[in-house]
Amino acid sequence: MKIIDAHLHIFDQGKTERNLTKLYKKLGIESGIVMGNQPLTLSAYHFSEGFHFCIGIGDFERSLDPGEETLAAAEAQLKRPECAGIKIYTGYAPVYASDDCLKPYYRLAGKYDKAVAFHTGMTAGSMGLLKYSHPLAVDEAASEFPDVRFVLCHFGNPFLAEAAAVMEKNANVFADLSGLLDGYTELDPYFEKQAGYVQMLRTWMDYVEDDTRFMFGTDYPAVDIENYIEFISRLVRPESREKIFFENASRIYRLGL
Ligand SMILES: [Zn+2]
Repeated sequence: MKIIDAHLHIFDQGKTERNLTKLYKKLGIESGIVMGNQPLTLSAYHFSEGFHFCIGIGDFERSLDPGEETLAAAEAQLKRPECAGIKIYTGYAPVYASDDCLKPYYRLAGKYDKAVAFHTGMTAGSMGLLKYSHPLAVDEAASEFPDVRFVLCHFGNPFLAEAAAVMEKNANVFADLSGLLDGYTELDPYFEKQAGYVQMLRTWMDYVEDDTRFMFGTDYPAVDIENYIEFISRLVRPESREKIFFENASRIYRLGL
C-alpha cells in the first residue's frame, strides 16, 4: 500500500530525516508533510527529497499579526513546489481561525492553491486554550474563503461531532487523522478497552459520508509510525484505505504524487 504521512514534525533535522527516509522506504511511505515549527525564513525550510512542508504560524513566540515582511516570507515559501501549505497553531496560539490577522494567509493560500491546516482539538500540556482549537472555530473562515482548502488536524479530537458538522457543511474542509494515539500502543487491548471511542471515530467519519475528505497522518514523533499505520488500517473501512492513506493527501495538498 502506498502511503503519504500528511502530518509530522521534525525537531532534530539531520538525524531524524535520515532515519525517516530509511523507515519510509521500508513502509512504503512516498512522502511526509512536515508541519513547521521554525521561524519563517527561506533557509529554515529545507528538507530531503521525499518531504513536503507546511510553514508554521503561531508556534512559540512569533507574533501573529503578520507585518509586510512576514507576509513576503510566507509568499516566497508558498511559491516553492515542496511547500504544501500553511499550518496554524490555533489553541497553542491565542487566536481564532476567523481572526482578521490570519486572513492575509488565507488569501495567499488561495492565490497559490495551497492548503491551510489548523491544529484542532486537544492541546498537549496545559498551556494551550481549547476555545481556540475547537473545530467549530474553523466554520467561519471556511465559509468566508470557499476556494481555500482547510484541514482540521487530528479531526478535532475529541470534538468529533463538531468537526464532522463543520466538514459536512463546508465542502472545502478536510481532516487528518494524526495524533489520536500517544507513543506505541498495543492495539488488541486498545480496540477492546476503547471500543466506545473507536466506534465514535467511525460514527463521525461515516456521518461526513465522504471518504475523500480524510487523510492519514501520524504526528510523529508523538506516535510510533509503523504502529500508527496498523491503527488507522484497522480503524477505517478496507474500501477507503487507498484514499485515506494516499490519494486524498496527494490531492488536498497538491503533491502531484
Ligand atoms: Zn502535529
